Amino acid sequence: MATIGFIGLGNMGAPMAANLVKAGHRVTAFDIVAAKAEALASAGGRVAATVPEAAASGEIVITMLPAGPEVRSVYLGDDGVLVHARPGALLIDCSTIDVETARVVAAAAAEARFEMLDAPVSGGVTGAEAASLTFMVGGPAESFERARPILAAMGRTIVHAGAAGNGQAAKICNNMILGVSMIAVCEAFSLAERLGLAAQTLFDVSAKSSGQCWALTSYCPVPGPVPASPANRGYAPGFTAAMMLKDLRLAQQAAGATAAPTPLGAAAANLFQLFVDEGAGSLDFSAIYRFLRKPEGKI
Ligand code: NAD
Repeated sequence: MATIGFIGLGNMGAPMAANLVKAGHRVTAFDIVAAKAEALASAGGRVAATVPEAAASGEIVITMLPAGPEVRSVYLGDDGVLVHARPGALLIDCSTIDVETARVVAAAAAEARFEMLDAPVSGGVTGAEAASLTFMVGGPAESFERARPILAAMGRTIVHAGAAGNGQAAKICNNMILGVSMIAVCEAFSLAERLGLAAQTLFDVSAKSSGQCWALTSYCPVPGPVPASPANRGYAPGFTAAMMLKDLRLAQQAAGATAAPTPLGAAAANLFQLFVDEGAGSLDFSAIYRFLRKPEGKI
């Protein structure tokens, strides 16, 4: 049993913290929206009134925040985690943020003599609820081993990706593959339709051919071939287009910082930007099929 301070009880953080409680850990939670932390009390957690109180409450501090600015403020602020955490505490940031912020905060944590890991997740809210998330973890190997049993209460696959920031690097590289491959699959189905080739036929061929990929066989953007995919429920998410755009932007930010050529990643980010600008941010990201198949590019 560990004592854990948990900061950020949103769509992901709330079920993750609940799974830690379920696993027997003593969790003290804080969210700037008080009602979100209070909801954990009914699951057996404790509620902190401030970041300092949550940060000081455990031998481990976990954060699950929206983006880089919130992570910087919660860790580096005058009343932040680095000022108030217990000596020797292990800090784990599970938010999806830019690699640079992850490395800056990890360096500040090391200077303050804390072990720190970046541990972004994939698997979405369903994975958070089912404790089946995948964690991609950056930071020292000893800290990773210390975190492993805690992460195992919230996830199924836990991968050490290397030094600080590499968890975020793994996450954005993977999601760049996904964003680009989803668009490629959508374009192929759209072209097939114009050519009079049935969607099911293209699926049957490509699922067994060199065009095979996860976006096609597990998450087909066209209704029919994969019954469990969001296309069969009006593109209810799933993984929203807004989240995909966020991750593609983070990938472009990292590509700019390292002068990495990512022309398809850039094109995917632009297309998802146009799609989200049409008001589609809350749809599943595979709904970009609707946008791409229309001649005027409207959903
Ligand atoms: P969310 O917006 O639902 O939750 C974030 C929570 O942080 C909110 O409850 C908010 O009130 C709280 N918060 C913001 N600033 C705070 C502060 N200064 N102090 C304390 N609490 C603060 O977001 P989410 O969907 O839970 O996602 C969290 C992170 O996980 C994001 O980085 C997201 O990109 C990533 N992620 C989300 C999903 C998903 O499917 N939702 C999947 C993978 C990764």
